[in-house]
Amino acid sequence: MGVVVAMDGPSGSGKSSTSRGVASRLGLRYLDTGAMYRAMTWWMLEHGVDPTDGDQVAAHVDRPVLVSGTDPARPTITVDGTDVALPIRGPEVTAVVSAVSAVPEVRRRLVREQREIIGDGDIVVEGRDIGTVVAPAAAVKVFLTADPSARAERRSAEHDHADVAATERDLLRRDRLDSRRAAAPLTMAADAHHLDTTPYTLDEVVERVVALVAATRENA
Ligand code: C5P
Repeated sequence: MGVVVAMDGPSGSGKSSTSRGVASRLGLRYLDTGAMYRAMTWWMLEHGVDPTDGDQVAAHVDRPVLVSGTDPARPTITVDGTDVALPIRGPEVTAVVSAVSAVPEVRRRLVREQREIIGDGDIVVEGRDIGTVVAPAAAVKVFLTADPSARAERRSAEHDHADVAATERDLLRRDRLDSRRAAAPLTMAADAHHLDTTPYTLDEVVERVVALVAATRENA
């Protein structure tokens, strides 16, 4: 079994950039599980399914065909053959993705597919429940956090948004929903390394995680 690096934490904590950086540095694959929940949400909106109606969402959960690429230099995601990398980041999807991802049937399906993609490992997997639910045996578990204002600044910069305050409100709203839901809430695994990224540059955070992976491999 190759190494599995589980990278969990709230939005804007630096998970995506860190995960891609670590995967590139170490020649590992990369999986963005948030993109899968977003893609499922996009499909529901496209097909007129009310994303806040859990029963309706559950009834359609097996219909979309999702394909996730695992190259950290060029992450891709398609739904029924359509490239949705851009629309899944839009405000329509972001507003309701937490509702869709709280539906147990959605989680059951996506966790199964995530485990298939993880397969024999050699992969960095980012999400909310990777160290706790998807890959509890992962060799390296990291839980990234950052101050809400730093997270909002980063997200606004990524998305060309001027409104940092609104971004911060949205991040905190999603944290609340993701942490309080019954199915696989956002929590830190007991054996995860907690890393507060607020004072560090991306390169410094990548360096720390690379060192954790190296230490784990030496002890294996
Ligand atoms: O990471 P990202 O912000 O793209 O994730 C979007 C949403 O997907 C999160 O707010 C959360 O509701 C859901 N998610 C999840 N479990 C994961 C990854 C994402 O519930 N492993």
